[in-house]
Amino acid sequence: MSADCIFCKIVNGAVPSKKIYEDEDLIAFFDIKPMAKVHFLLVPKLHVETLKDCDSSHQALLGKMLLLAPTLAKEQGLAGFKTLINTGREGGQEVFHLHVHVFGGGNAST
Ligand code: AMP
Ligand code: ZN
Repeated sequence: MSADCIFCKIVNGAVPSKKIYEDEDLIAFFDIKPMAKVHFLLVPKLHVETLKDCDSSHQALLGKMLLLAPTLAKEQGLAGFKTLINTGREGGQEVFHLHVHVFGGGNAST
């Protein structure tokens, strides 16, 4: 838990989100600025800043995040989907709490 992290605040309920899934390790919620008709984020409850900060102790958590993606995508009506992990400022990361983007269903504006 990091006091000024927006995703930690979503995890602990201090900031609202459109949640689609939650268990003891992870939550998933819709992205506030969707890049596609369906666009949600898979977020570990543990505050880890980036994929670069992961090590073998995070292996099960990372596997769980990836395995959840097709299940949640199917629930959202997606027959196929894209996944994205931005890592570091130069990798386009804006929120420094590890997350996997899952999106599909066509462009958000069409
Ligand atoms: P990234 O560039 O990979 O760090 O992506 C961060 C994502 O988090 C962006 O797509 C934002 O639109 C999304 N985001 C930021 N704040 C919130 C929020 N409060 N609720 C939902 N999504 C958010
Ligand atoms: Zn955090």
